[in-house]
Amino acid sequence: MAKRDYYETLGVKKDASADDIKRAYRRLAMKYHPDKNPDNKEAEAKFKECAEAYEVLSDPEKRGRYDQFGHDGLRGMGMHDYSRMNGQDIFSMFEDIFGGFGGLGDLFGTGRRTRKPSGASRGYDLETSVEMNLSEVSKGAEKTIEFTRQDACTECSGSGSAKGSAPGRCPACGGTGQVSRGGGFFQMVSTCPQCRGAGTIITNPCRKCRGSGRLPKKRVVSIKIPAGVHEGQAVRVASEGEPGRGGGPRGDLYCYVRIKPHEFLQRDRSDLIAVVPISFTQAALGATIDVPSLNGTRQLKIPAGTQYGSVFRIKGQGLPDMRTRRTGDQLVQVTVETPSKLNKKQEELLREFAETENKNVFPQ
Ligand SMILES: [Zn+2]
Ligand SMILES: [Zn+2]
Repeated sequence: MAKRDYYETLGVKKDASADDIKRAYRRLAMKYHPDKNPDNKEAEAKFKECAEAYEVLSDPEKRGRYDQFGHDGLRGMGMHDYSRMNGQDIFSMFEDIFGGFGGLGDLFGTGRRTRKPSGASRGYDLETSVEMNLSEVSKGAEKTIEFTRQDACTECSGSGSAKGSAPGRCPACGGTGQVSRGGGFFQMVSTCPQCRGAGTIITNPCRKCRGSGRLPKKRVVSIKIPAGVHEGQAVRVASEGEPGRGGGPRGDLYCYVRIKPHEFLQRDRSDLIAVVPISFTQAALGATIDVPSLNGTRQLKIPAGTQYGSVFRIKGQGLPDMRTRRTGDQLVQVTVETPSKLNKKQEELLREFAETENKNVFPQ
């Protein structure tokens, strides 16, 4: 699945300022928000695409990596796994960013909040990737992966308040978590934009996390990858995502598998294909040839009279199939090489051979 350029996704220039990026994302998020496009898969996909682009371009570290190395540079940077989020999840996630504007929800006029201000919510899922070669795919592998995730700040245990101080009552809502706007008949009650419904605000922020309660932290986990795994499949590691809010459970980590191309072998489901050149004398007379396999080279007998493109099957030398648990085969396709240079003796012999064939060849 090829990913689009993040700048292109948001429709901004490479040197766009943080404000430009924020504005562009806000505009697109409103356009494609699931609340405005119910049951529109295309809009949902666009919404996620924009959110992912925004996650990268709004973070100076991620943006720097992306500018320098492209999509590959973001591996292990603790990217959120958008493929597993629904619109509301992303909405909740970016509420943090747009909280100061009263939240995106207010812009849609829905006023809907799926997350109760004081209630616990599950942490976000993260995605990372791991590279495997075909030998590892054949046996399965245990991989150690390192990634960065937001974890509770160790200094303040995630509270966001400096040691020894407690959050104070929110001055904007007086601690109710709600504010009303307008007047007379049509009073609109909505979640307080300053405390985001909590009723309290951090008055003396923790210095280490600047009041967010979270800090990026490196994490190393060991993951078992089953034999027969395919490119793009993900292994779910439960509870290795970001911590939940209000004591909610951690999200999960999804580790996507990338398979390194093999020098000689191509994969076709559970079969492995090798294309091996042989000489025309080997093809005509038969021979035992060396063919590349997953475990070094192995020998294969080619019968006399083998034609260009013939395929030979070595049973059970392919990869295991995760569903059927059967092991595939190795297929060897031979190509016949015509000698481009002949020494004197070889040419003489071939001319003699051509005479017996009674075929017309160029004279010497
Ligand atoms: Zn802290
Ligand atoms: Zn408030």
